[in-house]
Formats: sequence, structure tokens, C-alpha cells
Amino acid sequence: MPAKMFSDGEMVMGRWPGSQLYYEVRVTGYNKSTQLYAVKYKDGTELNLKESDVKPLNYFKTKKRSISRQRSRSRSRSPARTQTPKRSTSRGREAKKPVQKEEVQKKDPPTTKFIHQLQENSTNSKTTPVTDFKEEKEENNTKKTYRVVEIVDGVPLANGKKLQYRINAFYAFLLCGAALAAALYNEVNLSYIHNNLLQLAISAMVFSLVLSIYLYLRSWHVPTDELAAGGNSGSFVYDFFIGRELNPRIKNFDLKYFCELRPGLMGWVVINLGLLFAEMEMQQRDVPSLAMILVNSFQLLYVMDALWNEEAILTTMDIVHDGFGYMLAFGDLVWVPFVYSLQAFYLVNHPNELTWPVALTIIALNTVGYIIFRGANSQKNAFRRNPHDPKLAHLKTIPTATGRSLIVSGWWGFVRHPNYLGDLIMALAWSLPCGFNHIIPYFYIIYFTCLLVHREARDEHQCRKKYGVAWNKYCQQVRYRIFPYVY
Ligand code: NDP
Repeated sequence: MPAKMFSDGEMVMGRWPGSQLYYEVRVTGYNKSTQLYAVKYKDGTELNLKESDVKPLNYFKTKKRSISRQRSRSRSRSPARTQTPKRSTSRGREAKKPVQKEEVQKKDPPTTKFIHQLQENSTNSKTTPVTDFKEEKEENNTKKTYRVVEIVDGVPLANGKKLQYRINAFYAFLLCGAALAAALYNEVNLSYIHNNLLQLAISAMVFSLVLSIYLYLRSWHVPTDELAAGGNSGSFVYDFFIGRELNPRIKNFDLKYFCELRPGLMGWVVINLGLLFAEMEMQQRDVPSLAMILVNSFQLLYVMDALWNEEAILTTMDIVHDGFGYMLAFGDLVWVPFVYSLQAFYLVNHPNELTWPVALTIIALNTVGYIIFRGANSQKNAFRRNPHDPKLAHLKTIPTATGRSLIVSGWWGFVRHPNYLGDLIMALAWSLPCGFNHIIPYFYIIYFTCLLVHREARDEHQCRKKYGVAWNKYCQQVRYRIFPYVY
């Protein structure tokens, strides 16, 4: 058995689990059988770490000096560096910084002074502590450049690599809208979609199955570090369902990223529109019902919001942790477009005349839901991008051992998942236009409540692991998870 490298009481740098961040920690013990070091972080969190996640205290200082020498050399030799900014934006909206190339160096002095971020096995350098403020500044400056194509870095993956993503879903959506407008102009009958909905759904199912078989087969030909951690149980059924390969790509075309937003969300909008025309045809109306207009408009707003904020998907579990298998392929290509359009489908054959006061109440409900949903998501995104943003100075925060803080006021001080609350309020507003005669229009909110309650529990578990005592403090201050005073 190899001798242990670090002794009890020694101060070392310990990697924070699931991240690439290293902190000063004290070794408090060593378990010979598991070969794990027990370490204590400065905020009191105690964890067990593998030897490979523990480095000597001076490890980064030495590396950093040599890296900065390399950097200054490579800068002077390579003027092209500044011509290839990491990202630029073309929509005039605030650009988002790639996650993890982080603010941590600049904030919360008591914790951050001992933080180092290590990008092991990164594509361009073997060992690069990201403490380069100049580079950060350059990157911020690039936000002011405007380009048609926006390319952003994804978060560093477990293997240390970062993938690049082309952000243009909103343009794709506009293109899709133009194609629909051209179809309508040429008198294409969109109620065809309703008349053939089952055939379309079955085709999508077959396509998602074929895609999953392709994904499963190709996953046997990729390096092991490109496989998803959770999709390699050895059980064919489980791995086929969950997905073996993390980010399958054909050249630069990322299959999972493409399927996550585009076909499903745009398909949902197109199906809704087809159902709107079907309603007019079936009920011999000159204009769609108010209920149908509300359902279509609310869901259109939701889809446009998701496509406009496309980059937000890059930090989700789907992209960062989960493999691409049958579950995601079916969810993206079948479940979202065909199940999320159930309200509009119901209205085609079940007219529900709304009075204006009722319609206005439902609009108000959807608006409240949207304000909470967007407010909460934007507040967190803005804070994660730049916790020193003067616009966020009013927010109270709790520092954590990772260097990231948790917001405890504003939306995130209201409940622990205000974005889920807003989403669920909107889901209710999408069902109410259909009246109360049937359960079908309420299927979405019932299913979505279960999904978000389960997702919240998973996230809670991850955050407790990630933030330790700081998360417990947050939970003490913000007692409710999703519904204030209820849950
Ligand atoms: P969230 O956007 O809620 O992200 C959770 C993460 O936020 C945590 O892991 C933590 O990550 C960070 N966080 C949690 N609390 C705080 C805090 N107090 N201060 C700062 N950061 C905090 O997760 P989802 O990806 O689940 O949801 C995103 C949106 O997508 C939601 O609006 C949700 O409703 C919606 N959604 C919609 C679905 C649909 O089918 N329509 C399906 C799933 C989600 P860290 O600290 O590492 O940043």
C-alpha cells in the first residue's frame, strides 16, 4: 500500500468536490482502507478527499509563476489572441460570462484569498490556474463587440474540457416564424397538423428511438472521458435510457444541445398554431377563441423567453451531467411538443368561452408568474456573472467555502426556488382558459409540479454537498422550498 503523502494537521490545498476549485484545508485524518484524507475547510466544512484531490500548499504558487511566464511569451508571439474573443453578442442583450471562469477571485476576501481554480487537461493547456485578471478584462471588453454569430464556452466538464456552443436559437426561431408566415401566405392549411397529430407523434417517437440507437452505438467508439458519469452502469437497458455519451457531436454539431431547445420548443409553437387553425375550422369560427389565443400567447412567450436566454441551458444538469440517450431524445422530441400542447389540443373540440374579466384575471396570473420566473432567473444569472454588479448591491448574501455566495434576499430570499414557483403559476394560467370540465388541460401542471418538486429535492441535495454549512444557514433563513408558508 503506498505511504500517505500528507500528515495529520498539515495545511494543504483541497479540491472542492464536483468543482475545479482548490481551498486551503487542514488534514484531520487518513483512512487507510478507503485511502481518503479527512480535511477541514476554513468555514468548518469537513469532507473526505482522494489523494489526487489534495495538493501541497505551495503547488499553485509554483505553477502560477511558470504559467504567467508562458502567457506573456505567448501573448507577444500571438497577436491573433485578441482577434478571437471567447464570445461576442449581437442581440444587444447583456452578454453572459461563461460559467466557472469565475468571479471567485475578486470577491469575499476572507474566503477567496486562498482560492485557486485549476483547469486540468484543458484543451489548450495542461495545468492552468485561472487567476488571470487581464484575460478576464479582455473577455469583458469583448462583450461590447457585436457579431452575427455568438459563440460561448460551456462550463468546464468533469474531464476538464470546455466545449463551445453557437448561440443562435432565437434566429432559428425567427426563421421558423418566417417559414410559417410564408406557408400561411400561400394558403397552406395548418390544421393538417391537428388532423395528423397521431401520425406526427408516432413519427417523432420512431425518430427519437432511431436517434437513441445511433447514440448508443456511437458511444462505444468515443474515449471514456467523454462518457456521462451516470450512464455507464453496464446494464444495456439503463444505459440506453439514460445515455452513455455526454455531449455527442458530429464535427461541431452538438446533437444534445440542438435537440434540447430547438425541435421541441419550436415544434410546440408550430403544433399550437396548427391547433388554433383546427379550432377555427372545427368550430367554424372566423377568429380563434379567446381561450385559444391566451393559451397560444402564453406558451409562445415562454418559448421565446427560453430561446432568447438560450445560454442558460449550458449550465443545466442536462448539458453538464446527463448523457444523451432515449430519455432526453424522447423528452425533447416527443414529450415537450406533443404533451405540452395538450391545452390547445383540448380546446379544439371543447370550446370554453371566457368573459373578459376572467380572461384579464388569467392574464394577470400569467404576468405575475412570468415576473417571478424571469425576475428570479435573471437575478441569479446576473449575480453569478458578476456578484459585484452595483445593481445587485442591495442583495444580502451568505459566503460559502467555494467562494461563491448565496443570495438570501430578493427573489431568492422569498423561497429557495422562486423560479419554480413562477413557472408553476404560469402553468396554472395555461390550464385555466380551458375551464374545469376535464382533467386533460391540467395534466401539464400536475406533471410539472411532480417534476419540479423532485428536481428541487435533487438540487437541494447537490447544493448541500456543494456548500455544506453555508447551505444549511441559507435554509434556516429561507425556510420554504417552493411555495411560501406551504412547502
Ligand atoms: P435553477 O436555475 O433553479 O438552478 C439551481 C442552482 O441555482 C443551484 O444548483 C445553485 O447553483 C444556484 N442557487 C440556488 N440557490 C441559490 C441562491 N440562493 N443564490 C444563488 N444561487 C443559487 O435550476 P433549474 O435548471 O432546475 O431551473 C431553471 C429554470 O428552468 C427554472 O425556471 C425552471 O422552472 C425551468 N425548468 C423548466 C422545465 C420545463 O419543462 N418547462 C424543466 C426544468 C426546469 P450554483 O450555486 O452552482 O450556481
